[in-house]
Amino acid sequence: MQDKFDFSDLLPKSPVTPVRLELDDTFGFSCHKGIACFNKCCQNIDITLTPYDVLRLKSLLGLKSYEFLHKYTVPFEMDGHGMPGLKLKTRDDTTTCQFVTDQGCSVYGDRPTACRYYALGMMSMRTKDSTVDEDHYFVVKEDHCLGHLEPRHQTIRDYRAEQGADVYDDMNREWRQLVLKKRSCGPTIGRPSDRSFQLFFMCSYDLDSFREFVRSPSFATVYEIEPEVMGALMGDDVGLMKFGFRFLKQALFGENSIPIRPGAIEVRAERRRQLIDQERQERQRLADSDGSEATTDKS
Ligand code: SF4
Ligand code: SF4
Repeated sequence: MQDKFDFSDLLPKSPVTPVRLELDDTFGFSCHKGIACFNKCCQNIDITLTPYDVLRLKSLLGLKSYEFLHKYTVPFEMDGHGMPGLKLKTRDDTTTCQFVTDQGCSVYGDRPTACRYYALGMMSMRTKDSTVDEDHYFVVKEDHCLGHLEPRHQTIRDYRAEQGADVYDDMNREWRQLVLKKRSCGPTIGRPSDRSFQLFFMCSYDLDSFREFVRSPSFATVYEIEPEVMGALMGDDVGLMKFGFRFLKQALFGENSIPIRPGAIEVRAERRRQLIDQERQERQRLADSDGSEATTDKS
């Protein structure tokens, strides 16, 4: 009888260990300054940022969100439909993180979610008929990372708490659900509009521009926000970020939780109609003037 052919050598090597772990499962790992691979993981990065990552980093660096986005991030498409995502920019012509120094991470206390998770991965799933997500974990073993050979063992729960991943997950959860929902509607209702992606980008990542938008007269003509609520939002980045998630749910999915002024929708619809009308008339005027120029040329 012929032996079974072993395909394992032909398969691409994945750093993901295909074993599903739960919060009280243990895994062996330790990362510390004296380890021979210190900083190796920060020299070849591919880090996707969440809204809370941006909020923490821009606050630490004393930058407005748009300054941070310009200096430290690169945009990318999170799906095939144009949904905007952000990655941490690397140093010029390298794959090295801009924040790494010989002493380690210069933004350690505010490092992004992905850096806190390493060397774990997480997947959130919702089973049929359930209203809550279940989180599961797996270990990511890359050849350069010697932390897996260290003698320290801990539970996933303890590791997450030690890394501050719990707080970040709480802050990111609502946004992740929003991303999943937006992704899942893409193909069924056609390509979402550019306007909806601009809104998604501003509410997700550009908090300081969103703040300006929320305190603008055009926002006030539609939404009814108590002055004390507005005052609190203006001085609280986390509160404003969460308000941004609510705003997105309302604008994109019609999940209304922000009070709308009576008649505001009708006024806005009328204003839109007028704008569309003006644009149509302008196009017609240009087409007419092109036509008359062509006639003049011939004569
Ligand atoms: S943010 Fe810090 S931990 Fe994350 S890749 Fe950069 S230097 Fe490394
Ligand atoms: S042990 Fe792993 S995570 Fe820690 S510095 Fe080394 S490569 Fe990076």
